[in-house]
Amino acid sequence: MLPKPPPRENSLGFLYCPPFRIWGESIAGEATCLQIPELDLGFDIGTCPRAMLPSKHLAITHGHMDHIGGLAYYCSQRRFQGMGTAKIVCDQRIAGAIKRMMEGYVELERQRTPFDVVPLVAGQPLEIKNNIVLRGFETEHTCPSFGYTVSEKRTKLKPEYHEFPQEKLRELKERGVEITRAFEVPLITFTGDTAPGPHLLTEPIRKSQLLITECTFFEPEHKERAKVGMHMHLDDVAEWLRICECQWMILTHVSRRTDMQYARKRIGEVAGPKAAERVLFLMDYKANKARYDQQLIAAGEQPLSAPKAAPPPRTNRAPAARPAEMSSDSDEE
Ligand SMILES: [Zn+2]
Ligand SMILES: [Zn+2]
Repeated sequence: MLPKPPPRENSLGFLYCPPFRIWGESIAGEATCLQIPELDLGFDIGTCPRAMLPSKHLAITHGHMDHIGGLAYYCSQRRFQGMGTAKIVCDQRIAGAIKRMMEGYVELERQRTPFDVVPLVAGQPLEIKNNIVLRGFETEHTCPSFGYTVSEKRTKLKPEYHEFPQEKLRELKERGVEITRAFEVPLITFTGDTAPGPHLLTEPIRKSQLLITECTFFEPEHKERAKVGMHMHLDDVAEWLRICECQWMILTHVSRRTDMQYARKRIGEVAGPKAAERVLFLMDYKANKARYDQQLIAAGEQPLSAPKAAPPPRTNRAPAARPAEMSSDSDEE
């Protein structure tokens, strides 16, 4: 009997929470990487599947290998594929270590991979797109760690000008009168690895439209393990969910030993069936595929699971000649 081929790799987790697509991979201790194409932004890079490459900004939450292991490769592949220099956003406390890690590769490879490190202190805004701002906040973990909130800047007419006709408003504006008030709408929070605590109760986090967080432990007897590793336990998530206004809470960093059906059942039991409806799991392939199919059907499109159209009937004609293999002249690295 022939020996077996290697196991097939799983595909990426994918969710569509309009207007954002969230894709990536996240398994506790193994790897976490996430991308939101609509924001041109990635979070963490424990591993670097091809689909992670396009995001120009990559926000790193902390230095654990399962969150940063693919960073040098990400920078190098972006250069190799002609995608431009990556912008690595991080907590200023780990910026030096990241630069030193990248320096190590210069010595190993005898060439310099370009990258930009953008160190942030908690609360410091970084405009990643027009009117879209990223800010870090400190979380509690076994090493320096950041979570991030992405907000949209908007303006609103000050209430005292509500009754003014358009013409008058234009005139005031021309005279330099500040007739609008600026405010921010929190769109997405990504916590990275964190223990529960008051740092997760700030207004931008509670009011985030999408809350992407970790939940590493689900079993009632694993509360102590969650505490030691400074991770979230399902009980913490359920309690937090009660005061969060998010439309969706997306759970990541579920361990490989946790069965998805069990995890779903537990969240229903602990948070209640109503609250559990707002909870999604990034890596629940089956449920997420069915959910996306429903979204496609609602939009009048073919679901992914629809049977493929029958191939055209075969004729006896010889197949068209295939173009000659393109020669590959990419330099091996
Ligand atoms: Zn982790
Ligand atoms: Zn960690």
